[in-house]
Amino acid sequence: MAYPLAPSSLEWQRKAREYAEKDLIPFEEVAEFNEGVVPPEIAARHKARALELGFSRMDAPVEQGGLGLSKLDQVLVWEQLGRVTNALCWSMSEAHEWMFEACTPDQIERFVKPLMTGKRCECYAITEAQAGSDPEAITTTARRTGGDYVINGEKWFVTSANKADFMFLQAVEIDAGGQRQHALFLVELSSPGIEMIDNPLFGHTFASHHPTYRFKDVRIPAANRIGAAGGGMNYTRSWFRRERLMIAADAAGPPPG
Ligand SMILES: Cc1cc2nc3c(=O)[nH]c(=O)nc-3n(C[C@H](O)[C@H](O)[C@H](O)COP(=O)(O)OP(=O)(O)OC[C@H]3O[C@@H](n4cnc5c(N)ncnc54)[C@H](O)[C@@H]3O)c2cc1C
Repeated sequence: MAYPLAPSSLEWQRKAREYAEKDLIPFEEVAEFNEGVVPPEIAARHKARALELGFSRMDAPVEQGGLGLSKLDQVLVWEQLGRVTNALCWSMSEAHEWMFEACTPDQIERFVKPLMTGKRCECYAITEAQAGSDPEAITTTARRTGGDYVINGEKWFVTSANKADFMFLQAVEIDAGGQRQHALFLVELSSPGIEMIDNPLFGHTFASHHPTYRFKDVRIPAANRIGAAGGGMNYTRSWFRRERLMIAADAAGPPPG
């Protein structure tokens, strides 16, 4: 059964196809022969064009300066971007709809809106040595101490951390009364106490690495916890839903030609 696409959807597909074919694909060989890295001026051009096309704010609500595209339209865009190596099509970060629902106005200004404008770049840290398929098993802690949280633990396979300046970090929050529950935090990667302890090679040459980080007494402001106490894994599930849907579209992208 065929599902006809609306003219506006076909237009998004066309824009993304043109970006992939005219801007990105000509640099595939350069990327492939240079571990996924293209000259900085080329990377800057790709990013600027992606921002101009609105790809960093497709999922963001219109009232926040986003495009508020349907998930179907976003899938059409990511299918086209997926025709190109991730070394090139991951040219920008994206602000997701759930971030605007979960974050405070201050967090939106400091972290989320700069994703739309290309001023900041994020990564997402959930996985640990003993917590992969079952993220509920994570042991990294965020202990409330006065106006801060103090983070201790280790995170594995943090994709694009080498490009990012902040991370979403899932941890076990320990409140002032000692009660433990899962919560999500915004962590500046420049915070003292964060150390990259490994950067395992994966079976490709992408410029986005997947390093392992150790957190030793890393202090972050309490204002960087996302959502109310007891927010648990809800926001991480929201991230997985949007991220994995687009990863699937990216993977389904037909090859060039
Ligand atoms: C390229 C790449 C990028 C990644 N990027 C990120 C990132 O940005 N941030 C992040 O936090 N994590 C990231 N990860 C980690 C990823 O989310 C985990 O690898 C994934 O959750 C699986 O965990 P694991 O590798 O520990 O495998 P395991 O959980 O050990 O699973 C190993 C195998 O056992 C199977 N299995 C596990 N549990 C069960 C069960 N109960 N019943 C039956 N079978 C089971 C699994 O299906 C799998 O085949 C990335 C991983 C890769 C490969």
